[in-house]
Amino acid sequence: MTTRSEREKAQKLNEQHQVILSKMLREEENKYCADCEAKGPRWASWNLGVFMCIRCAGIHRNLGVHIARVKSVNLDQWTPEQIQSMVDMGNRRARQLYEAHLPESFRRPQTDQAMEVFIRDKYERKKYYDKDAPATAPVASSQTVI
Ligand SMILES: [Zn+2]
Repeated sequence: MTTRSEREKAQKLNEQHQVILSKMLREEENKYCADCEAKGPRWASWNLGVFMCIRCAGIHRNLGVHIARVKSVNLDQWTPEQIQSMVDMGNRRARQLYEAHLPESFRRPQTDQAMEVFIRDKYERKKYYDKDAPATAPVASSQTVI
């Protein structure tokens, strides 16, 4: 059983999280899908810390929860840990990590099938990953917002 004040607390936390997420989505690098660069992403893989479009969210879901944990920015409830993970990473840092070795001539795939191959290469096989980055990235802890 939850009390009224507990419910109010949960609701307030949820509102706070929505404020943080919508603020993040207004940042230039988060205005586009981390994978296909579609405008206005409304989904996220919170363990990877990236915002993405609904199509790529579907592909991330196919990867399995050991790779990507997908959430809707607006429709799902977030925990403080999940929010923190997004704050610590975000699309810009994720790009530096996961696309460090992406060839300059690389063109983002258009079809769903090619997109899935790219996303698997990127996150599952870590084909373009910056291997020199510290494994346990002590990421921007100064940015703690919660
Ligand atoms: Zn996308």
